Amino acid sequence: MARVDLDGRAIAPMTICMIGAGGFIGSHLCEKLMAETPHKVLALDVYNDKIRHLLEPESLPWAGRIQFHRINIKHDSRLEGLIKMADLTINLAAICTPADYNTRPLDTIYSNFIDALPVVKYCSENNKRLIHFSTCEVYGKTIGSFLPKDSPLRQDPAYFVLKEDASPCIFGPIEKQRWSYACAKQLIERLIYAEGAENALEFTIVRPFNWIGPRMDFIPGIDGPSEGVPRVLACFSNALLRREQLKLVDGGQSQRTFIYIKDAIEAVLLMIENPERANGHIFNVGNPNNEVTVRQLAEMMTQIYSKVSGEAALDVPTVDVSSKEFYGEGYDDSDKRIPDMTIINRQLGWDPKTSLWDLLEATLTYQHKTYAEAIKKAMSRPVAS
Ligand code: NAD
Ligand code: UDP
Repeated sequence: MARVDLDGRAIAPMTICMIGAGGFIGSHLCEKLMAETPHKVLALDVYNDKIRHLLEPESLPWAGRIQFHRINIKHDSRLEGLIKMADLTINLAAICTPADYNTRPLDTIYSNFIDALPVVKYCSENNKRLIHFSTCEVYGKTIGSFLPKDSPLRQDPAYFVLKEDASPCIFGPIEKQRWSYACAKQLIERLIYAEGAENALEFTIVRPFNWIGPRMDFIPGIDGPSEGVPRVLACFSNALLRREQLKLVDGGQSQRTFIYIKDAIEAVLLMIENPERANGHIFNVGNPNNEVTVRQLAEMMTQIYSKVSGEAALDVPTVDVSSKEFYGEGYDDSDKRIPDMTIINRQLGWDPKTSLWDLLEATLTYQHKTYAEAIKKAMSRPVAS
């Protein structure tokens, strides 16, 4: 049966130039596009480990519909040609791990703003549609975080729910280099919006709110640098796998809403296949029902990991660390992130489905299966003296 869009029209097969296709989100998006659609993907990245299962062997049912191009978009003249070959460009490429924002602020700003500029320019000049990945971090801190601790207004959603078309973007001082990422993402959003307004660029901007699931980041010392600091899911998974305490930065009081990657990818597919409903919009993509403090997340992950691994949890599973100790000078944090879902719900009829418990259970089952043996081996190796 022909696949139809939300307005009942047949969806024509398209070619998608996906930049950053080898990352966490890209790998899930490629998987979905190969398994459920007839679209072709030109997959650009410097790595392809996370999509190798889609590229090999040649006998895969989608062989010929996905093509990997090992390209660093910072300096590769093939970029414009590939964008021209496609109907749609999706840009996922970025440095997007908080440990880098204050320690590698220049790389962070270049990656999230300067390197994204030619992509926007080539799309605009060649009349190609662009879906650009920004971040929920462009909202920065909530208005409520500036109220006195005991103010009853802190309970009022008007002071914390984040709305695409109404909320301000509130960053800390320049010396708090944490905000280098959010600021670069905000400026590229403004540039894309201006290209839409002045040059009729067809664009959609996605603001992911803590998408998590299998293949996110890396486990230090196993498939990433042993000194590397990934995002919280991988940090906590690593500690659980090694039977170490989970580190709570500044008491783990910050709040986040986590969404299962598979729910979020459904939203992206709707954007891809419903351009008339998605163009010109900025979309929050998150799960407002899955809010926890980082401390609660640690407790939940400890409980679930014990269930899926069959290993008893440590007596004291968490330890407090200061942000200066953990991330170094210049770290700062978003206090609370609840996405308003009105716009995506109205335009695309999309809602997230998976509860935090279920998504952590699926993800930690994957982490255990994928890494437990490798960690045991690595830990039993004698340390070089
Ligand atoms: P990721 O790090 O797994 O993926 C990014 C990919 O881009 C990597 O594979 C990397 O190799 C590639 N890349 C970076 N620079 C490149 C370059 N110069 N040339 C070619 N490839 C390059 O991260 P992700 O979680 O998949 O995030 C994708 C996008 O979504 C990013 O723009 C990020 O800022 C945004 N985002 C993600 C989340 C989330 O919850 N995962 C939250 C907010 C924003
Ligand atoms: N965090 C933590 N321990 C860790 C890693 C992260 O307490 O081992 C905290 C971090 O300070 C932040 C939250 O967890 O408050 C989420 O961090 P993440 O790196 O996933 O990215 P963010 O949501 O801040 O973009």
